[in-house]
Amino acid sequence: MAAITIEGLSKRYPTGTQALDGIELAVADAEFVALVGPSGCGKSTLLRIMAGLDEASSGTVTITPRVVASSNAPGIGGAGGGAVFNALPSAMVFQEPALFPWMRVAENVAFAFDRLQLSASEVRRRVDTMLERVGLTAFAHAFPHELSGGMRQRVAVARAFAVDAPVLFMDEPFAALDEQTRVRMAGELGALWERERRTVVFVTHGIEEAVTLADRIVVMSARPGRVRAIVPVDLPRPRDPIALRGTPAFAALVLRIWELLA
Ligand code: ADP
Repeated sequence: MAAITIEGLSKRYPTGTQALDGIELAVADAEFVALVGPSGCGKSTLLRIMAGLDEASSGTVTITPRVVASSNAPGIGGAGGGAVFNALPSAMVFQEPALFPWMRVAENVAFAFDRLQLSASEVRRRVDTMLERVGLTAFAHAFPHELSGGMRQRVAVARAFAVDAPVLFMDEPFAALDEQTRVRMAGELGALWERERRTVVFVTHGIEEAVTLADRIVVMSARPGRVRAIVPVDLPRPRDPIALRGTPAFAALVLRIWELLA
């Protein structure tokens, strides 16, 4: 189980920038939530704090059943500072796929299990399964530089799902890809998520991408980031990103998000 509860979360950087102010958000177990908002509104900051990579100035992030970040939890952290520790395994996918150039594709995916102490055969089984799900079986022994940008990002996505982490944090994972590849990747990620349900928090500036993938879209206001609206996406699954674009329900949701951002 990995539900996320964020209460009264604020972040002020030492530079004085107030990035987030009073964020309240609950993400259900196995829910796909997209964060959208103007550039600089604190989406990445919020994601990093949820993932335990940065500290909150105040407020709490609780990943059921344990507390991940807190400004005032007893025993962890000093006065004022948000103490951070990673209570549950989570996986993160960044805009640039963080692959080791000297490792082959399969080794890059297997690397994710290093700290899990699995048997060699279990690692091989998980790597094979995930490479198959992202269509890269034939490239298991290729090096990252032999792959296209989209394929490299597929390796990063495969690695994130392969670790079996109940929570996945994705920070604009397709932003560096061309538009066609990006739409295809959204379809592939959606299909993968439907098979391997995890709690996903997905930062994107692509409104259509958010509508294609998410159960709910959190629309944030300009800095300091606050939750402006939460829009449920009641489109049936599986969702084909191309076919969806022709439907009135999709267009209405995209328009609604645009209006909220305006
Ligand atoms: P977004 O992901 O929505 O574009 P960010 O979370 O990256 O927004 O940034 C939110 C605000 O915080 C921006 O004004 C940014 O310049 C500032 N910021 C981000 N990281 C840092 C940092 N490490 N130190 C100081 N300011 C930062």
